[in-house]
Amino acid sequence: MSDDLEFIEATDDPICPYCEMRLTQIAYRHQRLNFGFLSGFAWVVLLSCPHCRKVLGTQSRS
Ligand SMILES: [Zn+2]
Repeated sequence: MSDDLEFIEATDDPICPYCEMRLTQIAYRHQRLNFGFLSGFAWVVLLSCPHCRKVLGTQSRS
């Protein structure tokens, strides 16, 4: 087994793992997360499927 993994460009539209629709768009939403102590919070970007609205991933917002 090799330690290397090849990085290739995807040529097909990605598919939602929940509803299996082809994703030609991904919905994003800025979400404020409160930690509940010391009034701490962070902003993240939630990426979701526009068909079933299930969350596909998150990204920290800098
Ligand atoms: Zn979906």
